[in-house]
Amino acid sequence: MKTVSDYFGSMVFDDRVMKATLSAKVYASLKHTIDEGTALDPGVANAVAQAMKEWAVSKGATHFTHWFQPLTGITAEKHDGFIAPSPDGGVIMDFSGKELIKGEPDASSFPSGGLRATFEARGYTAWDPTSYAFIKGKTLCIPTAFCSYGGHALDKKTPLLRSMEALNRQALRVLRLFGNTTVRRVVSSVGPEQEYFLITKEMYDARPDLRFCGRTLFGSKPPKGQEMDDHYFGAIKPRVAAYMEELNDELWKLGIMAKTEHNEVAPAQHELAPIYTTTNVATDHNQLTMEIMQKVASKHGLVCLLHEKPFAGVNGSGKHNNWSISTDEGQNLLSPGDTPYENAQFLLFLCAVIKAVDDYQDLLRISVATAGNDHRLGANEAPPAVISMFLGDELNAVLEAIENDAPYKGVEKTQMKLGVDVLPKFNRDTTDRNRTSPFAFTGNKFEFRMLGSSNSIACANIMLNSAVAESLKVYADRLEGSQDFENDLHAMIRKTIKDHRRIIFNGNGYDDAWIKEATEVRGLLNYRTTADCMPHLLDKKNVDMLTGHKVFTVEELKSRCEIMLENYCKTVTIEANTMADMAKRMIAPAVEKFAADMAKNVNAKRAFDPSLPCAYECGLIRKLSGLTDRIAEKVDELQRAEIALGDAGNIIEESYMIRDEVLPKMCELRVACDEAETVTAKSYWPFPTYEDILFSVR
Ligand code: ADP
Ligand code: MG
Repeated sequence: MKTVSDYFGSMVFDDRVMKATLSAKVYASLKHTIDEGTALDPGVANAVAQAMKEWAVSKGATHFTHWFQPLTGITAEKHDGFIAPSPDGGVIMDFSGKELIKGEPDASSFPSGGLRATFEARGYTAWDPTSYAFIKGKTLCIPTAFCSYGGHALDKKTPLLRSMEALNRQALRVLRLFGNTTVRRVVSSVGPEQEYFLITKEMYDARPDLRFCGRTLFGSKPPKGQEMDDHYFGAIKPRVAAYMEELNDELWKLGIMAKTEHNEVAPAQHELAPIYTTTNVATDHNQLTMEIMQKVASKHGLVCLLHEKPFAGVNGSGKHNNWSISTDEGQNLLSPGDTPYENAQFLLFLCAVIKAVDDYQDLLRISVATAGNDHRLGANEAPPAVISMFLGDELNAVLEAIENDAPYKGVEKTQMKLGVDVLPKFNRDTTDRNRTSPFAFTGNKFEFRMLGSSNSIACANIMLNSAVAESLKVYADRLEGSQDFENDLHAMIRKTIKDHRRIIFNGNGYDDAWIKEATEVRGLLNYRTTADCMPHLLDKKNVDMLTGHKVFTVEELKSRCEIMLENYCKTVTIEANTMADMAKRMIAPAVEKFAADMAKNVNAKRAFDPSLPCAYECGLIRKLSGLTDRIAEKVDELQRAEIALGDAGNIIEESYMIRDEVLPKMCELRVACDEAETVTAKSYWPFPTYEDILFSVR
């Protein structure tokens, strides 16, 4: 029998294949590029292309593609055959270093925000040697960055790589201050836990809202939902188990370390977590994972829903971004060390994150903002739209002692100075798990829990890396000129704790009282919707920071703001259209038919005995008739709100109109339709109900 280790990574041009197929010299040069982010020696590219092609062809590949992540949020690929004519009339399989390094897809059909005006339709893709090439189907996929000819990033990978570079630069400066002269590179790594729903294809096909929007726009609550918590970690049904098994196989072949899987809180909801890897590769892998989840589902007669909120009244799906930073020597910089000196360094990195999260709450919120995720963050579902951090009791006590210059667990006050024999060795707290915090410290990493299930993790990590790079820069600027390192270090840690204590919250993040305290007492931001937060991407402090670290140019930021808002408006508009259509052409006629049949029954009964009161039928007919009138009225109001969008002068204004006019009208229409569902005979209802869908996979 084949074991996993036989085929793990079999479709990846990974280090093992490189070692086996490249000359020692070429391998060393490529490895240098991969490990240290140095520029690729052009002479090496041809040799690599040759080896890559031979390996791919031997695995049955006929095509290659530059695989990239435009701002649509999904991945894009344009396939080219390897074949080239040979003089004898036949073909040879050909692939040059030039083709490996650079591609030129037509950029005009991808979103570019305002950038289109300043760049020609052409764009180019550039090989990212730090993420392994892989084979999907019969195509060799080469992970690439996607830019305009003017050099502006049109994708998510380019700024992500830039943010990793910024973090590397600043973290190295700080490590040198602690006397570390050997570390050559600092990288951020991520393990994203991915939630999803699985439903049957029959259910999906029968609902236009699922097909067009990925979520249900109507549906009253099923009699049994997640109240019993009996689905969480429950036994996995055979059909789901078969799906997970094949999914794992497919992911493993692509070198994706899918590791844990279990049922989630809601019925039909599941989770998949991979083992963490560098942010860049983790992002590519997560995009691939989402794609393969959907592909494998369709082979099993299932549909994988990645929408953040496919069902109202049932938990939505998120993605937990487990993030840490470590050195090429294997030291996790967010892991409390064994010696006080290491602990001082740990505390400084911890402070860098605390400062970053407080200073750039808005950017973190923006990085997860989509129309779909607003249903989780803005509503009474966790996590809230307010960003706060959870550190756990032990770390909290340490920070408090430093802030107040007080003793910590018997450690003398005078000893609380950092550096020498000071800091107590604290235990990693593994039991202390706060599940309601949007940003929780979990022993040696932070778990950022606000990402939506369909989000690319690139955006969140771009902001996280950049913001932390900024804190580290402030620290390094200050400490590099210091005459008394230990004193200044201590002072700086203390100042960070004092200045940013407001972002630390260890209580229940779902509590209404917390939202009140956070916003009214602590002055934390609460941007409930995408429309609220997105324009702040262009706030001066954010532009200064992001351009300062060369993560974005001003033009790129403007274009991204525009694209994200456009995306928000388009998504909601499609939903509104789908709603109006379903209400008019499916729901209202069904309710009407039920009422009319009921009226026929009344007539039949009265023909039988004219004195029959038919109170039940008459009451119901009145109710149903009232509901169809209300549905018609609400459809009308919704459509008028949509027409008014034409008057919006710009995209920001349009997004406000979507938030204030269209979305509320959608809610009202939904309420009327959901009420109709509860009083209409099931056999009349025009599409599967929540109950049908959520318990469809057996
Ligand atoms: P949980 O209790 O949340 O399931 P796990 O320890 O299982 O915690 O980790 C969840 C995710 O965090 C996994 O994807 C794991 O690979 C990832 N992870 C663990 N350590 C790190 C780290 N140092 N950096 C980034 N991600 C990590
Ligand atoms: Mg987790």
